[in-house]
Amino acid sequence: MVIVTEFGCLVHEYVEGCPGLVFPRPNECPLCRVVDTLIGHGFYERKALSPRQVYVLRIKRWYCKACRRTVSLLPSFLLRFRHYLLDVIQSVVVTRVEDEASWAQVSQHCAVEGAPSSRTIRRWCDAWAEHASVWWAAIQQTLAEHDAASPLLDPLGQSAGPRDAPRALLQAALHLLAWAKTRWPALANYGLADRLRFLWHWGAGRGLGRLI
Ligand SMILES: [Zn+2]
Repeated sequence: MVIVTEFGCLVHEYVEGCPGLVFPRPNECPLCRVVDTLIGHGFYERKALSPRQVYVLRIKRWYCKACRRTVSLLPSFLLRFRHYLLDVIQSVVVTRVEDEASWAQVSQHCAVEGAPSSRTIRRWCDAWAEHASVWWAAIQQTLAEHDAASPLLDPLGQSAGPRDAPRALLQAALHLLAWAKTRWPALANYGLADRLRFLWHWGAGRGLGRLI
């Protein structure tokens, strides 16, 4: 199992072991919920791709003495099961869904010499569309719980469902971030470019499963 973790640094800083990079030890095992049982279990290597570069990252792993399973800390700039950095995937999804670019334009804008491939680009957009309504509903629920009068809420409400879930989720992710920034000062520097990284971190912590 992975815990999506915000390390507060960019991928190259993470690779270089930026000063103050710490791997927080979870207080309780997220699998069996027993407290104080996690011990260090080394690292495993994982690749992260941008169109121009391959990074090799060390992913911190913990071992639970109670249930004998391992838990690892996945930096929030990476998704599970995707080799490319979330940044790259975000620019593809935004270009296609929000800017309504053609597939050729998306490749032109986001790929370098065929990386990511047009097939990969379509797969990301399909996956985004597949999971969008679940994630959108979770955001609506959170915003409604905390501020039912929020101007950020979809006026038709959660039950109405989004008319265009992939597009609605990109908007809702911004609304979620705007709301979160009013609560957590650590998010002060987060902007438009961080919306999916924040969304992923937030939703993974709530067990929303795959995003893309
Ligand atoms: Zn455990």
